[in-house]
Amino acid sequence: MKYVLVTGGVVSGLGKGVTASSIGVVLKACGLRVTSIKIDPYLNTDAGTMSPFEHGEVFVLDDGGEVDLDLGNYERFLDVTLTRDNNITTGKIYQSVLEKERKGDYLGKTVQVVPHITDAMKNWIESVSVIPVDGKDGPADVCVIELGGTVGDIESMPFIEALRQLFFSVGQDNFCLIHVSLIPVLGVVGEQKTKPTQHSVRELRALGLTPHFLACRSAQPLLENTKQKLSQFCHVPVGNILNIHDVPNIWHVPLLLRNQNAHDAILKHLDLLSVAIPPNLQEWTKRAETFDNLTNSVRIAMVGKYVGMTDSYLSVVKALLHACIACSLKPSIDWIAASDLEDDSANSTPEAHAAAWKTLKNAACVLVPGGFGDRGVKGMMLAAKYARENKVPYLGICLGMQISVIEIARSVLGLEKANSTEFDDKTPNPVIIFMPEGSKTHMGSTMRLGCRRTLFQNPDCITAKLYHNSEYVDERHRHRYEVNPEMVSILEESGLKFVGKDESGKRMEILELPDHPFYVGVQFHPEFKSRPGRPSALFLGKISNSSKITVHDKCIPWGYCDGCVLALD
Ligand code: GLN
Repeated sequence: MKYVLVTGGVVSGLGKGVTASSIGVVLKACGLRVTSIKIDPYLNTDAGTMSPFEHGEVFVLDDGGEVDLDLGNYERFLDVTLTRDNNITTGKIYQSVLEKERKGDYLGKTVQVVPHITDAMKNWIESVSVIPVDGKDGPADVCVIELGGTVGDIESMPFIEALRQLFFSVGQDNFCLIHVSLIPVLGVVGEQKTKPTQHSVRELRALGLTPHFLACRSAQPLLENTKQKLSQFCHVPVGNILNIHDVPNIWHVPLLLRNQNAHDAILKHLDLLSVAIPPNLQEWTKRAETFDNLTNSVRIAMVGKYVGMTDSYLSVVKALLHACIACSLKPSIDWIAASDLEDDSANSTPEAHAAAWKTLKNAACVLVPGGFGDRGVKGMMLAAKYARENKVPYLGICLGMQISVIEIARSVLGLEKANSTEFDDKTPNPVIIFMPEGSKTHMGSTMRLGCRRTLFQNPDCITAKLYHNSEYVDERHRHRYEVNPEMVSILEESGLKFVGKDESGKRMEILELPDHPFYVGVQFHPEFKSRPGRPSALFLGKISNSSKITVHDKCIPWGYCDGCVLALD
C-alpha cells in the first residue's frame, strides 16, 4: 500500500478536502486504484450528533456510517463507496482502546497515549486502507489520508505521531506527505507572502514529519521567485511545489494539478511510474469547461431550516449541480429560511416575509430538504402547499416528504391537527410516527440509517421511469420518523400515491401526486449517491421538468442526448 498524507497549515478552510480528493482523481486517472481515509481529531465518535449549523452536513454512507462531509467529496470525486471506518475520529480510537482496556487485553500494563493510542491509530489506518471501495476485489494501490484540522492543534498531535511512525515503518517509497498551505498577498505591497507557510512547515518538521510536496493555495498563480523562496526555506524541491490558485469551479482543481505534472512527481516519489498511464481527464475537462460556459439558468427555491450555512445541505447542492450540468443549465439556488414564509413573520419581520414569498414565487421549482426539529416546519408546509396547488415541480427529501404528507392531510383531508409525533406527540392524527430500526432510548442509535431497498409499486409512476424502469432502488436513509402505516389508506384518499415501499410493505418510501407534473417526496436521501457524471435520477427529473426540457428515459440519469424527448406523464 502506498500512502499519500495530506495535512494543512496556517488556517482552516483552505480546501484541504478538495485538494486531497483532486490528488486522488489525478492518480485514478493514471490508472491506479485509489481509496481514502479522513481523520477528524475531534472526540465525537462520529458526526451523527454534530449540529449542521456548526459542522455542515452529516454525510451518510451505504453501511449507515454518519460521517464528515469530506467523505462525500471523496465518494463524488473518486466514485467510490466508503465505509464508516474510513472516517477515523479521536473518539473512535479512544473507544476501541478503552474497550480493550476494560477487557484486560493490555495485561496489566499502563495504558498510554503513546504507544497504545498511537498504535491503535496506525493499525486502524493500515487495516482500513486495504478495504476495497471501488467494487473490485483486493486492496487499492494508493490510500489518500486527509488529516483534519491544522498542524499544531493539540488534538491532532497523537495522529501526527502515529503517522510519523507509519511513515517510518513503511519507508520513503511508500509514503508521500503533501502539506496544504496558504500564500496570502498583503494589500499595499502586493507581495505573495511565504512566512506563514515557512512557520507551519517548521511546526510539522518539529513533530518529525518533513513534507515532500507543498500545495499552496493562493488567489493568483504563484510567482517563480515565491516558489524559489518556499523551496529554499521549506526544504521542498521547486518541482514539488504545487499551486492551487483560485479557479472558477472545483472541477478545475484536478486539471490544475495535472497541468503542473503533480501526478508525475507523486508517482515518481512513490515508485509507481512504471505501472501508471498518462492521466485521462477528458470527462473532467469537459465538465469543468461546460460549467464555466453555461448561460441558461434554472431557479431552485430551497426551503429549509439551516439556510444560513449552505454546507448544511452540501450533498443536495452538489446533486442539483450534477443534474443541472447534465441538462446544460446553471443552477441558481435561492435559499429561503422556512420560518420567513410563516404567517407570524408577516407581523414580526414583514420585509423578510415578503422577500421570501417573492423568491418562492419566482422559482422554477421547490425543494424541501431533510431536517430535524420543528423550527420552520410551518413555512415548509406553506411552500409544499404552494407547489402542490400551483403545479410547481416539488421534491421533498426525508423531512420534505413528511411535510407533504402533513400538509395534504390537513389541507385536502381536513385533518386540521394532523402532524408528525416529532412535532406534537399528542396529535389526534399522527400521520408521521416514530418507526426506528434500532434502540428507542439511545441518541445516535435510534435512526434508520444507510442503504435500504425501495420497491416500486407501479411501473408507470414518474419515479420508476426516472430510475430506468427498474423494479427497485437502493438509496441511503437517515431518519427516525415515517408515514404511519395505519393511515396510508386514508392518506391515499387525497389522491397522493405511495409508489415506493420497503420490502415489508410497511414503510412508505416514495410519494407522488399523479395529477401534478412533478410532485415527489422521498423518505430516503437521493443526494448522497449522486455523482458528477451520474446525477441522481430524482434531481435530474426535477430539473428537466422545471426547465421544460424533455429527456429520453434511457438517457436518464446519464445525461441527455441531442434529440431527447420524454413525456414523463
Ligand atoms: N426529522 C425527521 C426524522 O427523523 C426527518 C429526518 C431527515 O430529514 N433526515 O424522521
